[in-house]
Amino acid sequence: MYVELKGINKKFGGYQASDNVSFSIQKGKLIGLLGPSGSGKTTILRMLAGLENPDSGDILIDGKRVNDIPASQRGIGFVFQNYALFRYMTVFDNIAFGLEVQKKDKAYIRQRVNELVRLTQLEGLEQRRPHQLSGGQKQRVAFARALAPNPHLLLLDEPFAAIDAKVRKELRTWLRETINKVGITSIFVTHDQDEAVEIADEIIITNRGRIEQIGTPVEIYKNPSSPFAARFIGESLTIENYGELHGFKRHEKYDSAVIRPEFISVSKVNKVIYPHASEQGIIEDIFFRGNNFELHLNIGDKKLIAYRSLEDEALAVGDKVNVLIYRLYLYNDEEVLLVEN
Ligand code: ATP
Repeated sequence: MYVELKGINKKFGGYQASDNVSFSIQKGKLIGLLGPSGSGKTTILRMLAGLENPDSGDILIDGKRVNDIPASQRGIGFVFQNYALFRYMTVFDNIAFGLEVQKKDKAYIRQRVNELVRLTQLEGLEQRRPHQLSGGQKQRVAFARALAPNPHLLLLDEPFAAIDAKVRKELRTWLRETINKVGITSIFVTHDQDEAVEIADEIIITNRGRIEQIGTPVEIYKNPSSPFAARFIGESLTIENYGELHGFKRHEKYDSAVIRPEFISVSKVNKVIYPHASEQGIIEDIFFRGNNFELHLNIGDKKLIAYRSLEDEALAVGDKVNVLIYRLYLYNDEEVLLVEN
């Protein structure tokens, strides 16, 4: 394993920002740290970078314990959410900065910066200053600057947070392709599940300083280890009193159920397709989502969300419908069970 965190704890005042955090990452992988605000994502990055020291636990990079190695000697590149470019320096000089610090010779610096300018598609902008660049361009400069000294590991803290939605989507694809091209092990922080799913080879879900689940986006989607993890990859709804759901026997062992919209099928009341297992509901709202409709259903006192494809028969707000839940996850503190109806 290329990066390993073993039993990391970190407190700020009384707050446990990292609570026994352990994970390992293979060389060359692109990892997303995903979780709500305050769940400890940035703290993990800062400890890896050497900007913060853990209270206990070990950080290993390439098999070597780095706890006592200062940030400047860890060979790690860092991209911050607010670019942190040097305002009075040109694009060229920003990218060259780390190489100047390393006292590389001029010819090498010129060649390396030009290489990165091409990689980050900044040709022609070398002499501009940060205020003459768009958000997306600034972030590509920050990325090039971090890569210039050939780091072994690249850390990105919400790299697209300050960029508008359309450009952000383009940058995601670009970042994934570029990181793959460079082949550098990378970890990025995000609280945006679409971003994590689209970019990451593997996702680490953080929750209140702890690691909730680690896996590929598909693994977490298919087998969420907790209602919290289910909520962070894909759409889901947690129901505490699931025993009242039609067609599902109450399993005493489990406290709550998680249903995904994809696990629900809906048909008009007069077309009873699943007479024994479905129950009646009413459509409270319909949202057009581009490739499908999202139906908001009310069944008894429960609210559920289901999807309908554009080809399906038309349904309208107020329609009574048969609702079949054909799959759900049941949870308690220790385990999860997938139940099919
Ligand atoms: P966000 O998405 O908001 O950046 P995060 O998941 O990255 O959140 P962290 O920044 O790691 O979370 O913070 C975790 C907790 O530790 C928060 O409650 C935060 O207030 C606290 N914290 C982080 N750094 C410090 C610090 N230097 N001093 C005091 N508390 C801190």
